[in-house]
Amino acid sequence: MISTVVAAAEFRAFCDLQRAAGRRIGFVPTMGALHDGHLALVRAAKAEADVVVASVFVNPTQFGPNEDFSKYPRDLDGDRAKLASAGCDLVFAPTAAEMYPTNDVTRVRVAPLEQFLCGPIRPGHFEGVATVVSKFFHLVGPATAVFGRKDYQQLAVLRAMVRDLFLPITIVGHPIVREADGLAMSSRNAYLTPTQRHNAQALSQGLRAAQQAFAQGVRGADELAALVTAPIVAVADSIDYVSVADADTLVPISGDVGNRALIAIAARFGGTRLLDNVVLGEDAPL
Ligand code: AMP
Repeated sequence: MISTVVAAAEFRAFCDLQRAAGRRIGFVPTMGALHDGHLALVRAAKAEADVVVASVFVNPTQFGPNEDFSKYPRDLDGDRAKLASAGCDLVFAPTAAEMYPTNDVTRVRVAPLEQFLCGPIRPGHFEGVATVVSKFFHLVGPATAVFGRKDYQQLAVLRAMVRDLFLPITIVGHPIVREADGLAMSSRNAYLTPTQRHNAQALSQGLRAAQQAFAQGVRGADELAALVTAPIVAVADSIDYVSVADADTLVPISGDVGNRALIAIAARFGGTRLLDNVVLGEDAPL
């Protein structure tokens, strides 16, 4: 079975040894309850690096008081088996007290990118993400870290953090891994009832409609957003946003989009909040 460490010092010692031996480390942070999307990230890291380490940590600082921190699915034994099968070399599964000892006071913020999309709905979320990923980066010293494009805003925040803090880490944004019917894989899909699971196909259906319209020359941001929204509004319990935005700055686009634009969705099916997105002019057809 794959080795698992819980102490930050032990994790750092393993990573230091790898680098001292001249090995490039690939790093994949996760919150566990792993699915094939996560494992694709591990395989991508393996292709870029000599040794791959993953973290499994449900990070309390990125959850709001009324969010699903306590009920987030946890299955460390299952995760370890999956990580081993994907070629991961070591798992770091710390406790919250290990990552945030009682004297912990430092936080990392990428404020401008918090203004858009999930930022206003999840205050403090991206600060929690940037802080914990920064801590991991300092323990690991990875050459490469792989993140999923499903959490597009998270990826944008972390790219900005790495750029601004001059961290010598290549960030890889992996395409969204989907179920056969188009639903983006997510640990939170496990919360869905069969009816909600069926209805959640509307997210990728809406994005596909926008991709097809874009391919046929439609450029109006409102028109594209309306095409995405139509199938979702019929079946979701609520829509947090459907946003057409600059794919780098995340600033909403009014008027016409150019040759590349992000369309991002957050919608709720029962109590479950799901994300999806596509970059028009960049992502493969859904
Ligand atoms: P999480 O465990 O949800 O924090 O996700 C850990 C990493 O896996 C993040 O970089 C996510 O963006 C990525 N990820 C989660 N689901 C998918 C997916 N369906 N396709 C690609 N990457 C994903």
